Amino acid sequence: MGASNIYQKLKAAIGNDYGVFGLMGNLMAESGLRANNLQNTYSKKFGMTDEEYTKAVDDGSYTNFVKDSAGYGLAQWTYWSRKQKLLQYAQAYGCSIGDENMQVDFMIGELMASYPSVLNVLKNATSIREASDCVLTQYERPADQSESVKAKRAAYGEDLMKQLLGGNTTTEGKEEVTMGYTNSPLVSYTKLSPNHSGQRTHAIDRITPHCVVGQCSVETLGNIFAPTSKQASCNYGIGADGRVGMYVEEKNRSWCSSSYANDQRAITIECASDTAAPYAFKDVVYNKLIELCVDICKRNGKTKLLWFGDKDKTLAYNPATNEMVLTVHRWFANKSCPGDWMYQRMGDLAAKVTAKLGGATTIEPEKPVSDGALYRVQVGAYSKRENADNQLKAVKAKGFDAFIVQVDGLYKVQVGAYSVKANAEAQLAKVKAAGFDAFITTKAGTAVSAPTFSPYKVRVSIKDLNIRKGPGTNYASNGFCPVGVYTIIEESNGAGDTKWGKLKSGAGWISLDYAKRV
Ligand SMILES: [Zn+2]
Repeated sequence: MGASNIYQKLKAAIGNDYGVFGLMGNLMAESGLRANNLQNTYSKKFGMTDEEYTKAVDDGSYTNFVKDSAGYGLAQWTYWSRKQKLLQYAQAYGCSIGDENMQVDFMIGELMASYPSVLNVLKNATSIREASDCVLTQYERPADQSESVKAKRAAYGEDLMKQLLGGNTTTEGKEEVTMGYTNSPLVSYTKLSPNHSGQRTHAIDRITPHCVVGQCSVETLGNIFAPTSKQASCNYGIGADGRVGMYVEEKNRSWCSSSYANDQRAITIECASDTAAPYAFKDVVYNKLIELCVDICKRNGKTKLLWFGDKDKTLAYNPATNEMVLTVHRWFANKSCPGDWMYQRMGDLAAKVTAKLGGATTIEPEKPVSDGALYRVQVGAYSKRENADNQLKAVKAKGFDAFIVQVDGLYKVQVGAYSVKANAEAQLAKVKAAGFDAFITTKAGTAVSAPTFSPYKVRVSIKDLNIRKGPGTNYASNGFCPVGVYTIIEESNGAGDTKWGKLKSGAGWISLDYAKRV
C-alpha cells in the first residue's frame, strides 16, 4: 500500500513515468496519497476523523456521501456525480470506500472514459511538469491554478520520482524527501556490476558517450561488466536494438573513461557500434542516446548540454548549475573512443539535446522531400482532388501551412514534414487542437501543384444581393451588389449558401446561388 503500490498500478495503465509522477504529484497535493483522506475543513465541520467518516460511509450510518460536497480519497473527489460513481464502484468492488486499489482502478477508469485527452497527455508527456499541469487544469481543476500551485504539484511529482526510482533512501513524510540521485526510466534491463567506486564525490555535470566496438545487446554488456576481474563498467549501455541497460546506478562512480576525475562527475554511456573505424552507431542507438541524454539532463536539473570540441577548454570549464558538459574517452587515454563517427556528431548531440530541453516550443518546418525518412503530419486522404482542395482550404484557414501530395493514387493533405519526430508530434498536437483528425505518416509523395482557377463572369439579376467581407453570411455586408455582370476570381464554400465567389473589384464576396454564369 502507499506510493509504491499506486505507482505500480498507474505505471501499468499509463506506461510513462513522467505521466505517472505528474498525476501522483497532484494526488500528493490533494490527499497526501491517503485513500481515506477526508477534506480537512469537512473533518472539522462533520466532527469526524478520516477513519470515522470512512467507516460511517462503509457501514451505511452516514448517507450523505454523494451530496455532502466534501473532497474525499486520493484525488479528493468532490462533485456529486463523481462521488456517486466512486461509491457505486466501491460497492461493486465489494470493498471500503477508502480502499486504495479500488480508487486507483476507479481513477484509471475515469481517465479512460471521461478524460481521454488527459490520459493521452499522461501517456506522451516528456516532463513531469507537462503532465502535472494537465492533471491540475483538466482533471483536478481546483479553484487555485496559479503558477505556484503548478510548480508545487510538479515538485511533489519530482520528489516522488526520486523516492521511488532513485537510489537514495528517503525519510518518511512528504515534506522531508531527500533530494538524491535517480536512475533513468528508459532502462529496460538492469544487471548491476561490482566494478564501481561507490557513491560519487562530485555532482553529475558531465556525460561521456563511448563506443563498445561491437554491435552487442544490453545483456551482453551486462555479462561483460559482471566479473570483478573485468575492472570496468559504465552507468548505462545502449544495445544495437536501441534498448537501454543499467550497470552502475547514477549515484555511483563507474569505471569507464580512464579518468578518476571524469568518472566522479560523468554519466558514462557505452553505445553499441561497428567493430571497425569509424565505429558507426546504428540510427536507433544514436536516437536513443539523444533521448537518454535529455532524460539525464532533466532529472539532474540541466537545461543545456554543451560540446566545446576541445579538451583543455572543456576540462577547465566550470559549468553553471543548469549546464551539462560532454567529454570523450580519447582525451584521457590513447584510444579512439567514442570513434570518429560519434566524435563528429558530438556537436549535433549537444544541439539536439539542448533543443529538446529548452526549445520544445520552436518548430522548424521543413520543405517536404522525397526520401521517405521524414515524419509527415497528415490531415486527410482523398480520392477526389476537389475534396482534398477543400480540406486544404480549411486547414489553411486555421493558419497552418498545408500542402497536397499524391500517394498511391490518393490526394493527401499534409501540414509539415519533419526530420525530428518530436517536432512532428508537436505539430500534430496543434493540428488536433484546431479540430482536425490527424496522424503522423512517413510515406513520401509527389507534390501536387496548387489548384488553378480560371476567372469567369456571372450576371447578378436581383437587387438585394449582399456583398460580404468574406465568403459566408457570417461576414458583414458591404452593401448590395448592383444588377450587372461581374468577374469572379476565386470560389469558396461558406456559411449560408452553397458557393461564394470573390469579386474582381475587391469589393467582397457574393453568393453564387443568386448569380448566373455567363
Ligand atoms: Zn570508451
